[in-house]
Amino acid sequence: MRLSRYFLPILKENPREAEIVSHRLMLRAGMIRQQGQGSFSWLPLGKRVLDKVCRIVREEQDRAGALEILMPTIQSAELWRESGRYDDYGKEMLRIKDRQDRDMLYGPTNEEVVTEIFRAYVKSYKDLPLNLYHIQWKFRDEVRPRFGVMRSREFLMKDAYSFDLDFESARAAYNRMFVSYLRTFTRMGLQAIPMRADTGPIGGHLSHEFIILADTGESQVYCHRDYLALDVPEADTDFSNDAEIGDIVKKWTTPYAATDEMHDEAAWEKVATSDRVSARGIEVGHIFHFGDKYSKPMGAKVTGPDGKDHFASGGSYGIGPTRLVAAIIEASHDDNGIIWPEAVAPFDIGLINMKAGDADCDRICDELYAAFVAVGKDVLYDDTDQRPGGKFATADLIGLPWQVIVGPRGVAAGEVEIKNRRNGERETLPIEDVKKRFG
Ligand code: ATP
Ligand code: MG
Ligand code: MG
Ligand code: MG
Repeated sequence: MRLSRYFLPILKENPREAEIVSHRLMLRAGMIRQQGQGSFSWLPLGKRVLDKVCRIVREEQDRAGALEILMPTIQSAELWRESGRYDDYGKEMLRIKDRQDRDMLYGPTNEEVVTEIFRAYVKSYKDLPLNLYHIQWKFRDEVRPRFGVMRSREFLMKDAYSFDLDFESARAAYNRMFVSYLRTFTRMGLQAIPMRADTGPIGGHLSHEFIILADTGESQVYCHRDYLALDVPEADTDFSNDAEIGDIVKKWTTPYAATDEMHDEAAWEKVATSDRVSARGIEVGHIFHFGDKYSKPMGAKVTGPDGKDHFASGGSYGIGPTRLVAAIIEASHDDNGIIWPEAVAPFDIGLINMKAGDADCDRICDELYAAFVAVGKDVLYDDTDQRPGGKFATADLIGLPWQVIVGPRGVAAGEVEIKNRRNGERETLPIEDVKKRFG
């Protein structure tokens, strides 16, 4: 992509409304545009990151055996009356009437809709386990939307829903999502700690929030230092092996970790003072087991091997991709801007032409661009006539992992410079070696 043909509305000044660094940097780097209270458009650079985050979420959901569907954003109030949540949900739910004066709502979550799908088709234990997920916009009329996409009113959620015959198999389904979440966040360069959590309005007894430690987090959390060094399961983890998955969950739930609501002072006192991490955290994911909370009132039954009907035992599993983009920035930036982990970077390489219009610089840039693209790299080529200082500032601000800098003096010597955005290290290399470096 040539920067001269891209849409990257960089802001020079710090936007006054942005209280936290991720919000500030997302606005400055031209990733998002606020459209209303708690409502944002994703501009090209932001959209690329969001897509990469969603791709990782998808790959790890699929690996764990969940199946992707897509449910509507606008739901009928009827289903929510069946589950009994229409009146309970309160002011966070955006209620709408259609032209026939029917009560509709913009979904804040999808337990009712997915249970309706399940009960329509699944009648036998032989069709279980089943886990259906989608990545879809949600609306919650938050009391205090703030911090940009971190707490917005309209946001993207990956929500998965598992259905099983009994508690034991539902727990195995819960464990698969637990392990899938560990892999998901690690692949984005984040250290997420699963913490015992309150089940809130959804109800139930087995629940963990996945929390990123960050000073700007809205939750107070407490955990054992051991979490910071635990191994994350590899890609070859066998999700069909309940015992193996259960062991991983055991390892990841044994040291103390809890959010404020579930904090147990007595248990905390037993952790050595030097091992205690008491910090602020950002909730990026949340998993629940809720049993027959929806299947019972909504009549979602399957026939078991005993020939009898059983209400499906369910769980739900959320991740916030839009919030995650901000959380990644909270965890990875410096004074000059964003530092993208490679897996979610909007482009792999920023190719900087220090003297656009100079025949030699242009030719070498074209050559490098073609070589990088040929090996599958995403390249943002700064071919604009801005001064070098401005180009470097932009490159640091948008935080691509590598900068390849082409200037007249280097080109005359057959060399270009590469800079690693994370550690700032620079290297001067012969042009052919640079092509090989990213090959
Ligand atoms: P919070 O405690 O931050 O209000 P929640 O507990 O209400 O979040 P869940 O119902 O558990 O949220 O939803 C699953 C995930 O959706 C959250 O872990 C978070 O990543 C994301 N999410 C929830 N609310 C928002 C929001 N207002 N803006 C952006 N992402 C959100
Ligand atoms: Mg909430
Ligand atoms: Mg919460
Ligand atoms: Mg939650």
